[in-house]
Order: sequence, then structure tokens, then C-alpha cells
Amino acid sequence: MASVLPPDNHVHTEWSWDAPREASMVRSCEQALAAGLPGVAFTDHLDFTTWTDGDQIGAEDLDPHRYTRMHLLDVTGYLAALDDCRQRYPDLRILSGAEIGEAHLWAASAAAMVARSGFDRILGSLHAIPFGGRLTAADDLFRLMSADEVMRRYFAELLRLVEGSDIFQVLAHIDFPRRMWPRATGPYDERAFEAEYRAVLRALAASGRVLEVNTKGPLVSAELLRWWREAGGRAVSFGSDAHQHWRVGDKFKLAVDMVEAAGFRAGRDRFDFWRL
Ligand SMILES: [Zn+2]
Ligand SMILES: [Zn+2]
Repeated sequence: MASVLPPDNHVHTEWSWDAPREASMVRSCEQALAAGLPGVAFTDHLDFTTWTDGDQIGAEDLDPHRYTRMHLLDVTGYLAALDDCRQRYPDLRILSGAEIGEAHLWAASAAAMVARSGFDRILGSLHAIPFGGRLTAADDLFRLMSADEVMRRYFAELLRLVEGSDIFQVLAHIDFPRRMWPRATGPYDERAFEAEYRAVLRALAASGRVLEVNTKGPLVSAELLRWWREAGGRAVSFGSDAHQHWRVGDKFKLAVDMVEAAGFRAGRDRFDFWRL
């Protein structure tokens, strides 16, 4: 029996500030259809660089400029491109959305943007944490402290994000800095941070939200999915985190096997999250 593939709920296009030259919403749609996915959510980066009243980052007076190339999502242009794709590919369910970075620090800015965009799918992400008076990117942190310390600080801030913002439905890449884990430190071991993972998972489950199985970095383990269930988690979302069209739906068959083995099944319809 051919297994049903889930929608890819985490895809970037040319509208993301970190898009490579080859990023393409149109070609991502074609790839999703070719891969047999029922739908795709275009969750381009929504990162802020200037604060407004009501943003915690302003109260803490943190320098938010991680990368000079960062710029705000052009929501109008993005939505027009998405509309065009919906016309061109009626057989594909296309969701609008965004991956909001550090939403707990940008509550007012994020709320204003979401209110006027009508996004279908919002991912919550943590790519940077407050350190040394600035919002510091995860890759920089490894140069400033031990790898263990990076992860512990990351998970502590991630818990603040989950508890401090309800603007997102899905928590993206729960252990993001793991992608940059220094090889010289030895293999990354989830169990070294079990208490930290579990604290984040409990907070996420308590708010009825969804854990992402991200297929860009190392794939989620059976053990982590067990921790999610034990924390009260009931749903997972699949996301390739593709920034190039050919990565849409990447490693989904592997991810589906892992998620099914943990007891989750396709949800109410083929566009839904997978649920217990
Ligand atoms: Zn991300
Ligand atoms: Zn992403």
C-alpha cells in the first residue's frame, strides 16, 4: 500500500530574505505535485529589524541586526505571487504563511503583520537569542561558549518563546543549533538535553500546539517523538524547510515512517496535521 504523504508545511521561496538565487515559488509548486504532496505552505521568513512600542526587544534595548542582508517580508508582493500560484496549480492546496523568528520579542510587530496578512499557517522559530546586548545568531554562539552551553541557553529561550507567544501554531525545528553542532565536540546526543526538550514539549502540548518534524537537519528520533507523546503532544507537522525547490518534500517518506512508528496517523483529511 502506498503511504499517504503529508503536506509540506515549511517551504521558503524567493520572498525570504535569505533566499538563494534559485529559490522559486512556482517551481516549488511543480516539485510538490511531482512528489505527490497534497499541499504546501509557503512560510517565508518574517523577521523584524526595527522595533515598535510593545516589542520586548525594545524594552531590553537589544541590537536586533544579526545579518545585514535581513529585510522585512514584502507581504503584498508575496501574497500576489501566492495567488498567482493558486490559479496556475488548482490541484495543489497552497497555504499562505510565515516563519516568524523570535515572536516573543516582537509581539506587537508580529501581531500587526499577522492581522493584515491573513496567513493560514504560522510557524514559530528561534534562530537567535539575547546575548551580550544583542540578538545573537545561533552560529555565532558556538564561537562564544561551549556547545553544551549554546544548547542550554537555546532551550531556555525557546521555552520563553513557547510560553511568551501564542501567535504561532507550529513550533519549527526544536533543536535548530544542532545543525551547527561542532564536529570536534563529538556526536550530538539528545539525551544530554532531555530535561530541556521535555520542558519545551510540555509547554507546547499544554497550549494545544503542534511539533514540527523538520527534514532539513538530522531527522527527529523515535525517542524525541515518544517524549512529545509523554508531554501530551497530539499532533505533528512535516516541514522540509526547503529554500530550493528541489528540496520540497525531501526525506518525507523516512519522516512518515518515523512518525507512524510513533503512533501518529494522517489527520482528518490529507491536508491536516498528523495526529494520535
Ligand atoms: Zn528556521
Ligand atoms: Zn525555515
